[in-house]
Amino acid sequence: FKDNEYLEQYVEELRKGGAPVVVTRLSDMINWGRSHSVWPLTFATSCCGIEFMCVGGAHTDFARFGWEVYRNSPRQADVIFVFGTIVHKMAPVLKRLYDQMAEPKYVVAVGSCAICGGPFRNSYHVVKGVDEVIPVDVYVPGCPPRPDAILYGMMQLERKIKVQNFFKLPQQPAVKEHVTPEEN
Ligand code: SF4
Repeated sequence: FKDNEYLEQYVEELRKGGAPVVVTRLSDMINWGRSHSVWPLTFATSCCGIEFMCVGGAHTDFARFGWEVYRNSPRQADVIFVFGTIVHKMAPVLKRLYDQMAEPKYVVAVGSCAICGGPFRNSYHVVKGVDEVIPVDVYVPGCPPRPDAILYGMMQLERKIKVQNFFKLPQQPAVKEHVTPEEN
C-alpha cells in the first residue's frame, strides 16, 4: 500500500457517484481521522502569535481542517506550535510542556525566531532554534510568516500524519539536554 491510495480511490469513486466499496488499511483510516482533528497547544511568546490568530480568522479559517480546538492542557493537545523568541529561561518550560503531551505528538516551529533565533539570535539569552530543546516536525519560515504560509505548514503536517504507520510510529528523535549559557 502506498500512502493513502485506497482512501483517495474511494473519494474519487464517491465523486463519480460510483460504488461505495473501499479497501484500506486500518492505519490509513485512523491517520485520516487523526490528520483532520489535530488539537493545538499554542506557545506564542511574541509577534508571530498574532499571525496565528489570523489563521483562525474568516479569510484563512483553519477550522475547515478540524484544527480549531485549542487546548490549554498539554495532556489534551496533539501538536505544539512555537511562535516567537524562546529564551534560555523559558526553554525548560517548553520542554516540560512537550514531555507532558501524549504520543503521538508533533511540533511546528513558526517564524525565524522559533527556527533559529531570528533577529535576536546574537543575543546571549536567546535559544538559537527550538529544535535545540524539542524535536520539530515542520518549519514555517518568515518574519512573520503570512497566515497562508502557516496554513501550508499545517497541511504539510497533515501529510506527514497520513503517511505514518499508526501501529509503528517512529521514535521521537533524541534532543540533547538543554544547557543554559550560565551552566556551561
Ligand atoms: Fe516577531 Fe519576526 Fe520573531 Fe516572528 S520571527 S516573533 S515576527 S521577530
